[in-house]
Amino acid sequence: MSAAGQGVRVGVARERAPGERRVALTPETCKKLVAAGAEVRIEAGAGVGAGMTDEAYRQAGGQVVADAAAALNDADVVLCVQAPSAAALTALREGAAVVGLLAPQADAERGAAITTRKLQAFPLERLPRTTRAQAMDVLSSQAGMAGYKAVLIAAQLAPRFFPMLTTAAGTIRPSKVLIVGAGVAGLQAVATAKRLGAQVEGFDVRPETREQIESLGGKFLDLGVSAAGEGGYARQLTEEERAEQQRRLGEHLKGVDVVVCTAAVPGRPAPKIISAAMVAGMKPGSVIVDLAAETGGNCELTQPGETIESGGVVVAGPLNLASSGAVHASEMYARNVFNFASLLLKDGQLQFDWDDELLARTVWPERAVG
Ligand code: NAD
Repeated sequence: MSAAGQGVRVGVARERAPGERRVALTPETCKKLVAAGAEVRIEAGAGVGAGMTDEAYRQAGGQVVADAAAALNDADVVLCVQAPSAAALTALREGAAVVGLLAPQADAERGAAITTRKLQAFPLERLPRTTRAQAMDVLSSQAGMAGYKAVLIAAQLAPRFFPMLTTAAGTIRPSKVLIVGAGVAGLQAVATAKRLGAQVEGFDVRPETREQIESLGGKFLDLGVSAAGEGGYARQLTEEERAEQQRRLGEHLKGVDVVVCTAAVPGRPAPKIISAAMVAGMKPGSVIVDLAAETGGNCELTQPGETIESGGVVVAGPLNLASSGAVHASEMYARNVFNFASLLLKDGQLQFDWDDELLARTVWPERAVG
């Protein structure tokens, strides 16, 4: 804890993960933290990938420091996008709070560094998705950018127009785009493909997505099998139902030009929805962009991080799409993180109110209840 009379020290280092352009602090949120009594240190160049200069942070009241150690090592609160390395975590002050997409279970060394340093780690992917948490929901804000970019990648790869065009050379029919999975990324993909003028269909196992897809101008793809269960949750399909759904999807894909896959199940590998046989049945020149590549892919042929071709069908598995829209992705991420960090800052001091479920349910390792 910072000495009495001093503000809470907030530290931000340049992201080290390859290809990561986002930053967890923007000049806007830096200014807000300083106004709340915090002392903010940011590593030189930390915002460059997102178009934010050192000078802008200085003007926002931040101290720009030469390296990551100077930004982090005596910080009370560390803000990040992806987790710092185990070595960087081990160098932090004991008991410091760390807020970001920390994925502590994905790396044993990182997890061990968090527990040995007795860090208060808040992996934001664990944040409960309640109404109050919406302003802090980094999964939603970043998924919005990913869904948007996925459609633009598909439009770029497709050897056709998305909109209908009436030209002197005749009429061009609009592309048929299918969005698989209609969560936050999928709905943004529906909206984006629609804006580009495509004929858009969406599909999800949650029946309430029908209305959401339709409200964005898309058509709900009905595969004749409803997974509607009790209390608004999807139920497990029987083997026969699943087989029937797959058969109908395979038939449908023969007439689709572009597929954007966004279906995920939290904490699990992505469900395999598009088989190699279905891809073989698609028209040459069709494109699949598989956003679920991060967790293995919805398409059997997806190679995470690669774009391949199979029988004339292009299958792309782009990773970390939110980073490719780093300016707006960082603006949203930094606001989410500021809103979460505000729960830890009371009267300019660092405090953990474990009666607040947003803190208690997000912190890792899990707190014993009772
Ligand atoms: P996600 O990224 O975990 O999954 C994306 C979508 O894939 C989901 O809609 C899911 O139903 C779908 N899916 C999973 N398996 C599928 C399959 N086999 N076939 C077709 N689709 C499949 O989801 P997300 O975007 O993070 O959001 C999921 C849910 O969380 C939504 O209900 C959303 O409304 C809700 N949410 C709530 C809040 C909030 O209230 N604060 C915020 C964000 C999201």
